[in-house]
Amino acid sequence: MRLGTLIATALAATLVTGLLAGTPTASYAVRAPDGRPAVMEKRVIGHSVRGRPIKAFRLGERGQPKVLLISTMHGNEGHPRQILATLRDGKPIHGLNLWVLPIYNPDGLARHTRKNAHGVDLNRNFPYRWADLDGSYESGPRPGSEPETRAVIRFLKQIKPRWIVSFHQPLHGVDTDTKNARFSRRVADKLNLPRKSFTCGGVCHGTMTGWFNHHFTGSALTVEYGAHPSKRLMRRIAPTQVLSIWGARRR
Ligand SMILES: [Zn+2]
Repeated sequence: MRLGTLIATALAATLVTGLLAGTPTASYAVRAPDGRPAVMEKRVIGHSVRGRPIKAFRLGERGQPKVLLISTMHGNEGHPRQILATLRDGKPIHGLNLWVLPIYNPDGLARHTRKNAHGVDLNRNFPYRWADLDGSYESGPRPGSEPETRAVIRFLKQIKPRWIVSFHQPLHGVDTDTKNARFSRRVADKLNLPRKSFTCGGVCHGTMTGWFNHHFTGSALTVEYGAHPSKRLMRRIAPTQVLSIWGARRR
């Protein structure tokens, strides 16, 4: 089959599919690259130490406030990724240009460990106020030593979100010791979580939020759920609450 014929056939097939689905053809084809109606774009931003892909998904609408939600930076804090997966797998999102990165540390998740496969705490590995830490906050041999860190740095430089929410466990609260106190209050209010100060016992060394808040105009914020948030909270309640921070909705 000649290339022209091939393209024409493909277009015709797309047109029929679009008509059957009752949606505008072109946007339908673009909007659901992998069968998920909310997903506009899927991007592998890098790979873990063990070669697992780190995936980000763009949901929602361009031209709206750009937000990035991140979860599972620590592999043993896996519950909040259900919030991001629910948003990704649900109805199209309106009123927000939303990126979700559900599994930041896929090797840690596979082994159920806080750290990556090199034994590094990814939230101490960023090149801002990095310090040579050991133990449970092992910061790696140098700033940005880990492939997961470099992938996220590249990605953040590419997309430059206005807002970042980084989900962790189990401290149950929203960080108030942050760049934008008003944003922090709003997030705590909408997610119905207490406001807390996560000072890392003094100075936070090499954290992602610290690095982002220092280098970008946008604001990054840490949100911690408890040790055992219910499935109902993660899959039904919290996804809607998260969208309500920016007045966005699914339909
Ligand atoms: Zn954490």
